[in-house]
Amino acid sequence: MKAVVFEEYGGYDVLQYKEIPDPVAGANDVLVEVKATAVNYNDIWGRRGAPMQVELPHISGSDAAGVIKEIGSEVDSVKVGDEVVVHCGQPAWFNKEGQECNIWGYDWPALEGAHSQIVRVPAENVVPKPTNVTFEEAASLPLVLVTAWRKLVHKTGIKPGDHVLIWGAAGGLGVFAIQICKLFNAHAIAVASSDEKLELCKSLGAEYTINRRTQDVSQEVRNIVGRKGVEIVFEHPGQATAGLSLRLAGWGGKVVTSGATSGYDASIDLRHIFFRQVQFIGSTLGTVGHLQEALDMVQEGHIKPVVHGVFPFSESGEAQRIVEEDEANGKVVLIPD
Ligand code: NDP
Repeated sequence: MKAVVFEEYGGYDVLQYKEIPDPVAGANDVLVEVKATAVNYNDIWGRRGAPMQVELPHISGSDAAGVIKEIGSEVDSVKVGDEVVVHCGQPAWFNKEGQECNIWGYDWPALEGAHSQIVRVPAENVVPKPTNVTFEEAASLPLVLVTAWRKLVHKTGIKPGDHVLIWGAAGGLGVFAIQICKLFNAHAIAVASSDEKLELCKSLGAEYTINRRTQDVSQEVRNIVGRKGVEIVFEHPGQATAGLSLRLAGWGGKVVTSGATSGYDASIDLRHIFFRQVQFIGSTLGTVGHLQEALDMVQEGHIKPVVHGVFPFSESGEAQRIVEEDEANGKVVLIPD
């Protein structure tokens, strides 16, 4: 089979689409013929070898939608021919009891990421593909959808009437954060860097929009909610926004973070945490059960995938560039050539 492999860290030219041996299913594994996969920021961290180094040679990819091709001898939860999406947390139920987590395609077997024609994954990591979306749309869901779902539903306990400030609202996480707000009758305040992106946010249900390039985010938030601040800030840019996120949360509000795109060395004023009792909450991925809850909302038509574009594996470099240069509206998807 062929896969997108890199043998050294570097620019887009280190990505090679080449033949490697087919994976072999263990007793509790399944082999999935990948119909579509997606680009995530961790693919970029992996290729750059920074801020954390991945094992080399490496195949990235933390999302997949496809068809079961083979099952291990102990597997009875799925059968050959089933259409599935793959959950990228390892173990699949990680964090249920505060366990450590590995991310498929990043720090879980180096040569077994999703950017391959065939993947081997534990059977407990596959869930049925929603029947109302294409493989390309399905592949755009798992990693970012489960993360956004867990952040808002399980970590903050979002409720009707909450005002939720969403950074990167037209990005992979953001497009789902907006739709989750709408589902819970909360008010989404979408922040993005262009009016075109903000149009997308409005179409997904954002009630308020802020262009961070042309408007003063603090002042705009104050115009919307007054001095009281917002109940929830959906944080992930990191260094560039974490301090402001904390300030924009109201007394007793919650800042829930899952990333550090702009850097991890953030400066925050601790007085907001102890005096104003704002909670700064960390979150990563979610369990396969959280993913199933969110996919049920897709199946019921409450949450829709947003696909920026679809590229063949051989154009993985261009696909990663679009994500790295913040051009994506929603997810960039890859398909086997
Ligand atoms: P995307 O690239 O799809 O979107 C990120 C958005 O962040 C961009 O669209 C951009 O929006 C915004 N952004 C970038 N830099 C800044 C900045 N300096 N200030 C304000 N906004 C900025 O990425 P994802 O949504 O998929 O992921 C976002 C981050 O979350 C990544 O770092 C990723 O690694 C992390 N992540 C972590 C997970 C976890 O489980 N811990 C899971 C998923 C993602 P705009 O320019 O329009 O404002």
